[in-house]
Amino acid sequence: HADTALYYAKDEGRNNYQFYTTSLSTKNPEFLTLEKSLRYALERNELTVYYQPRVNIATNKITGMEALLRWKHPEMGLVGPSVFIPIAEESGLIIPIGEWVLRAACIQNQVWQQAGLPPLKIAVNLSPKQFRQPKLVETVAEILEQTRLEPHFLELEITESTAIEDLEFTRTVLRNLEKMGVHLSIDDFGTGHSSLSRLQLLPIHNLKIDKSFIQQLTTDVRVAHIVKAIVTLARSLGLRLTAEGVEKPEELDFLKSINCEDVQGFLFYKPLSAEKATEVLQNQRIMTVQR
Ligand code: C2E
Ligand code: MG
Ligand code: MG
Ligand code: MG
Repeated sequence: HADTALYYAKDEGRNNYQFYTTSLSTKNPEFLTLEKSLRYALERNELTVYYQPRVNIATNKITGMEALLRWKHPEMGLVGPSVFIPIAEESGLIIPIGEWVLRAACIQNQVWQQAGLPPLKIAVNLSPKQFRQPKLVETVAEILEQTRLEPHFLELEITESTAIEDLEFTRTVLRNLEKMGVHLSIDDFGTGHSSLSRLQLLPIHNLKIDKSFIQQLTTDVRVAHIVKAIVTLARSLGLRLTAEGVEKPEELDFLKSINCEDVQGFLFYKPLSAEKATEVLQNQRIMTVQR
């Protein structure tokens, strides 16, 4: 099935992605159909951003929201990014789409701040092609200016594999973004077969431990040791940590015991529509005020 193939293609990284683009894009009509309708999705207003709260373990407060793109497809319903981001990436559509998400997310954060909600970071994912576009830094600066969002309320996420592909290039781009005051995050950490000793050459603020590790935390003691080591090392390098994909209370307990700062996962919240996310933030404020 096409969705499954696309999903695996993305999750297993570059080589398989390469494999998939040559095999599926030519042989699978679903790819071409989707690519065509994705072209119109932006104009037709079919794209929408969901927001998943990031929660501080110690305070239980929401410290950030990750912008996660969804496609309200007229026939297929709500389509997840694992299906269409690879198509957008392959066709180059990721550039206008990515810019749209970035702007939408910054506007939303500004709307929340203007409504008097506690300030939080908005995290936006950048795909490899987005990260390598020559105008990235310029685009980010422009969007921050237009939306008047203070740069430190924006956090850009690149995956570990994107970061290490050309470390010198990555360092130059991240430095320029850092100079602007934007925060930077390494996504899916642990899947890119790099090491923190290489990543520490980069101006990063936050490390997100990939959910595949979290899912094995309570069943594989070796994984628990690895996660503990990552947290300790990251801490000594002055990085913040976010554990992705926390679903079980036992996972949370373990992460708490090793002093991981933030968690993101279904145990707390699934990605929410802007409307629902706003409700959650308003309720949190009421709870804080009442206390
Ligand atoms: P990601 O950046 O690593 O985002 C986290 C993914 O994990 C999201 O999937 C989220 O819904 C899911 N997740 C969160 N908590 C849990 C949990 O407790 N259990 C499980 N099983 N999953 C959890 P989603 O929204 O399907 O996004 C998948 C990927 O698509 C993202 O991974 C990111 O790489 C990419 N993506 C999403 N939105 C954008 C975008 O606007 N631009 C770009 N370039 N990529 C995006
Ligand atoms: Mg992410
Ligand atoms: Mg991730
Ligand atoms: Mg991912």
